Formats: sequence, structure tokens, C-alpha cells
Amino acid sequence: MAHSSSAEHVVVIGGGATGALIAVGLAERGFRVTVVEKAQVGNGSSSRSAAGIRAQFSTEETVVGMQYSEWWYSHFHDLLHSPPDVHEQPVMRQNGYLFLYEDPDAVPAWQPRRRQELARIWQLAQVAADMQRRVGLPVEVLTPQVVQERWPHLLPDRLLGATWCPTDGFLLPHMIYTEGFRRAQELGVKVQQQTEVQGAMLHAGRIRALITSQGTIEADWFVNATNAWAERVSPRIGGMTLSVSPLKRYLYFLKPSQPVMDEATWHRLPMTIYGVGSQRGAHSRPEHDLLLLAWAHETEPETNFDDTDQDRIDPPFRHDNGIDNYGYAILAQVEEFSPLLANAGGLVATTCGFYGTTPDANPLIGFDTQQQNLIHVVGFSGHGLMHAPISTLLVLALLTGEADRGHVRLPPPFDHATIDLSTFAPGRVFDRSRKETLVL
Ligand SMILES: Cc1cc2nc3c(=O)[nH]c(=O)nc-3n(C[C@H](O)[C@H](O)[C@H](O)COP(=O)(O)OP(=O)(O)OC[C@H]3O[C@@H](n4cnc5c(N)ncnc54)[C@H](O)[C@@H]3O)c2cc1C
Repeated sequence: MAHSSSAEHVVVIGGGATGALIAVGLAERGFRVTVVEKAQVGNGSSSRSAAGIRAQFSTEETVVGMQYSEWWYSHFHDLLHSPPDVHEQPVMRQNGYLFLYEDPDAVPAWQPRRRQELARIWQLAQVAADMQRRVGLPVEVLTPQVVQERWPHLLPDRLLGATWCPTDGFLLPHMIYTEGFRRAQELGVKVQQQTEVQGAMLHAGRIRALITSQGTIEADWFVNATNAWAERVSPRIGGMTLSVSPLKRYLYFLKPSQPVMDEATWHRLPMTIYGVGSQRGAHSRPEHDLLLLAWAHETEPETNFDDTDQDRIDPPFRHDNGIDNYGYAILAQVEEFSPLLANAGGLVATTCGFYGTTPDANPLIGFDTQQQNLIHVVGFSGHGLMHAPISTLLVLALLTGEADRGHVRLPPPFDHATIDLSTFAPGRVFDRSRKETLVL
């Protein structure tokens, strides 16, 4: 559809990690770029994230894409020409992701359905690991004994096995968008903060100009990078209905009352997922001297949330609300696999923000079905920081017309791989069989 010449003007809506890296990518390709952000850069989920990055997913396109993202982040400072003082601080720590899988025999016999669920989940994990290895991911399937040898703070009793990928890890979120926008501006990108997109002027199936709180902005192309706000922004500018639900998510921070292992081991702890399936999925990683904890609870979408709702902590979720709260429910899961970590200290902080979640937990990246010059790159379902580099690559391919029959070839060293854009098409039919199963 798109074969744009590089003098064209692109407006990117949204000043998070996605908007930042897309702005850099477009400017490097010679586009004239304006970013509009309704508050200040980092106003959204990008500053409220657990910041994990992993390629262990069940969707092949995502496994391929995340290998590219991990490679990209490992070259972050070179690619963004960071100043020397910033260069010293890595944007990514590759401590690995360790998914622990629970033994059905550890569940009482009077819970046969739970036992069946755990057996099925372990089977799916091994199918996913086979696929991940086939596309080049160095993932290992580990026995409980190997898990305990490598991480003595984890008990083997409840374990059936684990999957481990050493190239996964976690990111420094503010570095992504601050360095991203610094580089973007160096390349001539105009970043307009305090500029809310309120509407659009339309003509013949195209957006002619955006109507913002600071006046109108004409452009040739428009990129919606507003994630949890996307379903509100799209119709406002003449776009399609997007299936993106804003879901509240919480993070907790545990402060050990005394060291429970030597410092180097603590700082090398992987992102650990304490069981997969119903009533499981709590995960933790080190954040300096604290342990960051998270879990995705059942909740209703907050379709009309405002900016202050991002930091609103409802009473059942407050860590300082006694032990009858969600933070301690997370610790109860951790305790099943690691009493040492769960009892290391108390919870000292709670933070929160919104996921922009789609029905199949895969993002929406592609052209709008109503306005020909509008691209959506939203609905990351809790994975947007890690997606930002591969999202940028896909948006560039869409805008330059480089996609070949709906497939995008990755650059070296991944040029053996292509990504099928239909996996992420905003207008796709959500098919249960294609749902991402490894969602945290
Ligand atoms: C608790 C929690 C844990 C998470 N953990 C992880 C994780 O481990 N790994 C991971 O990769 N991701 C994680 N995520 C998700 C990740 O943070 C997001 O997917 C990612 O930050 C999305 O970035 P973005 O730039 O697309 O959107 P955002 O950072 O949300 O930016 C969107 C921007 O659009 C702006 N905007 C909205 N409406 C308008 C408008 N009308 N006009 C102009 N601007 C507008 C907003 O102000 C906002 O700044 C987590 C999120 C949460 C909340």
C-alpha cells in the first residue's frame, strides 16, 4: 500500500518507548518527523513497567522479533550514538528468564482438573521450547535437580521442570525513551509535549491533519503509538475500532531485612516465574537491593482512565494494608518455590500502571482499515518495552513499502528470518488457537 518518498512528514502520536524508537528510525530514513505527546515523554506505561525482556513466547513471530529486540538493545548506545557518560550504563541486563513448572503430583489428588492442567501446561512448554530452539533461541529445558544446582535458593520439591533462556533479562525503561528522544531530536525530530490529539481533518479516506490542543498539524502519515489509550485515540482521528483494553497492573518491592545470598548472586538473579497456569504466574527479579514482584490478576478494563488513575492504588493492592493484600498473595506463590526469598523481608512499595491488552495478547501493528495513511502500533499486552525495536522495524517496513507479500525480512544477523505481518494486523480475527500463551 505504502511507497513513500523520504521527504514526507510523519506524525507519531505518543511519547513513550515505542514513539521514541519509531521517531529515531523514521528520522534515520530521512522522514520529517513530529512527535506529539499529551503530557510529557514517559507519561504512560513506559515509566511504570517491570521492564522484562524475553524471547520465550509461544508465538513464533514474537520469538523471532524478540531475538532482534534483544540484539538491538545490546547495541543500544552505539545505535543511538549515546554520549560517553550515558554509554557506561547498560540499558539491558541479560540475567535470563527462568520459567518454573509445577509438578502435578505436588497437587492433592482431590484436584484432578488442576493436575491435568499442570500436565498440559508442561507439554505446551516443551512444544514452545522446541519451536524456540528451531528459530535459534538458546533455550534449555531443565530438570528440578539442575534448577537447584544452579539456583540453590529454589526448592525442587514442587517442580516438574523449568525452561531457561540466558539471553533474556530486563531493561532500564527511562533510558529507552530519554536517550531515544535525545537522539531523535539530534536527527531533527520535533517533539511537542503538552500537545493532545483531539481530532482530525479527513479527506477521501485519509487523514489530512490532526487537531491538537496546540493547533492543527498536517502530515502525510500518522502513527498511533498510544498503547493503553489507543482504543480512544483511533476513533477520534477517524480510525477503526481497536480491541485494546486498558488493564491495571501492580508491581511490589520487597526489601530484605538482611542479605540472603552474596551480593553478586543477588544481582545475577534471573526473572523467575513461579509456576504457570491458573493461580500461578507470580514473578520476581532483583531491582538494586530490592526484589521486584508482579502478577497479573483478573480485572475489568478501565476504558476511561485518566492520567492520575495510572498511579491510583486501590486498597486491596496496598502493600501497607496488612498482610491481607495482593502483594502478600504474590509472596505466597513465591514461598511455594523459594521460602528463602519470600521470607527475606517485607514489602516496602507498590507501583502500578496500565497494560493495553488485546484478545490474543499480541500487539496490533499495521495499517488502519478506515484511514489509508494511519498506522497503529499498540496493544502490547504487557510487552511493549521489549517490542519497541522490532515494532520500529515493522513500522518502517510498512511506511517504505519494504514488506514483501505481507512479510518483513529482518536485517543481518537475522536475515534468514521473516515476520508475517498478518500475525499483528489490527483488523485480524482473534483466533483462540493463535493466542499467546506465555503472558505474564
Ligand atoms: C506494571 C507493568 C509491568 C509491565 N511489565 C513489562 C515488562 O516486563 N516488559 C515489557 O516489555 N513491558 C512491560 N509492561 C508494558 C510496557 O510498559 C508497555 O507496553 C510499554 O511501555 C508501552 O510503551 P508505549 O510507548 O507503546 O506506550 P506508553 O508508554 O503508554 O506511551 C503512550 C503515550 O501516549 C500518550 N497519549 C495518549 N493519548 C494521547 C493523545 N490523545 N495525544 C497525545 N498523546 C497521547 C500518553 O500520554 C503516553 O505518554 C508493563 C506495564 C506495566 C503497567
